[in-house]
Amino acid sequence: MTALPEKIEHFIGGRHVPGVSGRTFGVADPVSNRVYAQAAAGDAEDVDRAVRAARSAFDTGRWPGLAARARAKILGRIADGIEARAQDIAAMETFDTGLPVTQARGQAARAAENFRYFADVIVAQHEDAFSSPGQLGYVLRRPAGVAGLITPWNTPFMLESWKLAPALASGCAVVLKPAEWTPLSASLLPEIMTEAGVPEGVFNIVHGIGEEAGAALVAHPDVPLISFTGETATGQVIMRSAADHLKGLSMELGGKSPCVIFADADLDAAVDSALFGVMSLNGERCTAGSRILAERAVYETIVARLAERAARVRVGDPSDPATEIGALVHPEHYERVLCYVGTGLAEGARLVAGGTRPDALADGNYLAATVFADVKPCMRIFQEEIFGPVVCVTPFDSEEEAVALANATRYGLAAYLWTNDLRRAHRVAARVESGMTWVNSHNVRDLRTPFGGVKASGLGREGGQHSIDFYTESRIVHVALGDTHVPRFGA
Ligand code: NAD
Repeated sequence: MTALPEKIEHFIGGRHVPGVSGRTFGVADPVSNRVYAQAAAGDAEDVDRAVRAARSAFDTGRWPGLAARARAKILGRIADGIEARAQDIAAMETFDTGLPVTQARGQAARAAENFRYFADVIVAQHEDAFSSPGQLGYVLRRPAGVAGLITPWNTPFMLESWKLAPALASGCAVVLKPAEWTPLSASLLPEIMTEAGVPEGVFNIVHGIGEEAGAALVAHPDVPLISFTGETATGQVIMRSAADHLKGLSMELGGKSPCVIFADADLDAAVDSALFGVMSLNGERCTAGSRILAERAVYETIVARLAERAARVRVGDPSDPATEIGALVHPEHYERVLCYVGTGLAEGARLVAGGTRPDALADGNYLAATVFADVKPCMRIFQEEIFGPVVCVTPFDSEEEAVALANATRYGLAAYLWTNDLRRAHRVAARVESGMTWVNSHNVRDLRTPFGGVKASGLGREGGQHSIDFYTESRIVHVALGDTHVPRFGA
C-alpha cells in the first residue's frame, strides 16, 4: 500500500482543499482502532463551495454536452486507472474497513467494471420516438444537473463507483459524500478522475459527518438528485429534508434477507451459499442472507452443518489472504453487533457457534462467525438488521409458512431460494417480498439488472437503464405534422 495520508481533504473544483472552518475528525483503522489520519469535517459552507463548482462545470463546461462516445472514453480511462491501482485500492480498503483483502480485491475489480459497463450503456443509449398520423413525438434525454451521492462504509469504493459511474455517464456533475468511518479509498479518486480527463468541477468530494456534511448536501437547493445508500432510518431523515426542494431520490437501504432452504435442495450447495452469503464482507453486506429458513425435515442437519462450518471460518487479520472474516469496521459498530448477540441469548435463541471474540485476537473488532438456531419471528435478532457475521436459523413446515416467514420483517431487499422443484421455485419467487431474488445461487449479479429493495429496504432501482433514468430527465417533444384542429375559444 502507498503511504497513508496524514490528512484527508475535500476535492472541490479540481483541487484538494481543507474545510473552510478548518475543523477535522480522526479516522481509525479497525484492527488497532488507532487514529491514522485527520479528515476535513465538511459543513454547509464546504458543501456550498462544492455544489457551486459542480453547478458551474455543469452550466458552462463541456461535460453534459459531450458526445456519448467521448464521455465513454473517459469512463474507460477511469476504469483503467482503477485497474492500475487495484492492489492499492484493495489494500487501503482492507486497512480502513477491515474487509478481508481477497474480498476487497474483488470489490476493486467490480468498481472498474462499473465504469466500463456504464460507458457501454451510454454509447448504446437510444430514445423512444412515437409516430401517429398527424403527430410525431420524440424523447430528449438530458442530465439532471448536480447529483449528490451519499455512500456507506461497507465496501465504500465499490459503492461509490456504483453511483459515480452512471451519474458521470449521464453527464451529471457530482458531489460525493463518503462515509466518515471509511474515507481512505475515496482519496484515490481525484487522481484517477483527473488523469482520465474528467473536467475540473465535474467530480467533487466533501468529507464529513453525515448529520452535517450529508445533511447540507441534501438540503442544498442546487442539488436536484440524491442517491443514498445507507440505513433505513437515515433514509427517512433524508426523505423528509429532500421534500422541501422536491428532490429526486434513490434510496438503497437496509435488509434482513431470507435464505429459504427446502428439503429437496442440493444441501451441500445451499449450506456453502448460505454461509458465504451472510459471513462474506464480514457480514456487513446489505444483501446478506441473515435469516436462514430451513424446512423441518432438514432443519437439524442444516443447523449442525452451519455450526460446524462456522466454527472453522478463519477470523483474523484482514490483510492475510487466508482470512475469511476480518475486523468489523468501527468499535461502535462492533459493540452494536455484540449487543445483538446478547439480545439473541436473552431472547432464548440457541447459540450453536461463535458469539464471542476469538481467543487468539485480543485487540481489534473481531467476532467469530455466529449462528443462532431456533430463532422465532418475534425476536429482535430475526427482525433487525445486525450487519455483522451473525445468522439466525428458523424452521418451517410448509411452503406457505416459508413464504410467511420470509415476508415477516419490514425489509425486502434480497431473497435466496434453494429447491430443486422448478414449479415451487417460481411460485415462491413470485410471492417473496424482495426487490431481488436468487434461486439456487448466492448474490451473483448481472450489471444490467435492476438493483434495489421493496418495503423498508428502499425506493427506486439502480443498475442498468434504471440508473441512467435516475440521473437524467426524459423530455418529450410533440410535433404536429400538419394542420391541427384547434377549438376556437372566443371566436
Ligand atoms: P448510514 O445511514 O449511517 O450512513 C450512510 C451515509 O449517510 C454516510 O455517508 C453518512 O455520513 C450519511 N449520513 C448519515 N446521516 C445523514 C443525514 N442526516 N443526512 C445525510 N447523510 C447522512 O449507513 P452506514 O451505517 O454507513 O451503512 C450501513 C447501512 O447501509 C446498512 O443498513 C446497510 O444495509 C445499508 N446498505 C444498503 C445497501 C443497498 O444497496 N440497499 C448497500 C450497502 C449498505
